[in-house]
Amino acid sequence: MASLIHCPHCGVRPKEEFTVRGDASVVRPDPEASDEAWHEYVHIRANPRGRTREHWQHVFGCRRFLVVERDTVTHEVYGVSDGSDVARGGGR
Ligand SMILES: [Zn+2]
Repeated sequence: MASLIHCPHCGVRPKEEFTVRGDASVVRPDPEASDEAWHEYVHIRANPRGRTREHWQHVFGCRRFLVVERDTVTHEVYGVSDGSDVARGGGR
């Protein structure tokens, strides 16, 4: 069975309509932060096993950025939130 993602704007859609855009847990440093902090923000990523939060874009749908919480081992999706809601402190 195909993996399905529940887009908050388009409804249930196949995962092939989406593109993963990266780790959603990374926090942008202050503009005056050290070069090391910016290096880690731009280049260093964990590759966790298990539950993760990622930015996904619905490229073949509404084109919105979403935050998808899923398990990298089982591929189970726990939740999908609109990226702008998460950025404003809402969502999950
Ligand atoms: Zn959508």
